Amino acid sequence: MSRRLENTAFQCEHCDQHVLPLTNGSYRNHCPFCLYSKHLDNQPGDRSNNCKGLMEPIGLDYSNKKGYQIIHQCQTCGEIKKNKAATHTIQPDHILFLQQQIANLL
Ligand SMILES: [Zn+2]
Ligand SMILES: [Zn+2]
Repeated sequence: MSRRLENTAFQCEHCDQHVLPLTNGSYRNHCPFCLYSKHLDNQPGDRSNNCKGLMEPIGLDYSNKKGYQIIHQCQTCGEIKKNKAATHTIQPDHILFLQQQIANLL
């Protein structure tokens, strides 16, 4: 398989939805429907991490500077990362869905 750089469409490995590239200038690194991500990047978009584990959305953070950030934990290596939520784009992140999921966990 050729090395994929950057902002491409992909099929979510968790919910099988077809995910389109972002239209707001940043990199899509998680599914907007189930919010799962894949452990591919060290820096956003660099695809230089070889883990490739599925990353589960485990929390949500909000700051005035960055807006919503989704907290992901890799199910393979356990690393926790924050990813900026995708808003103002086609297929924006289903933030409400994540908020409800987190509320159910508490
Ligand atoms: Zn998904
Ligand atoms: Zn990992």
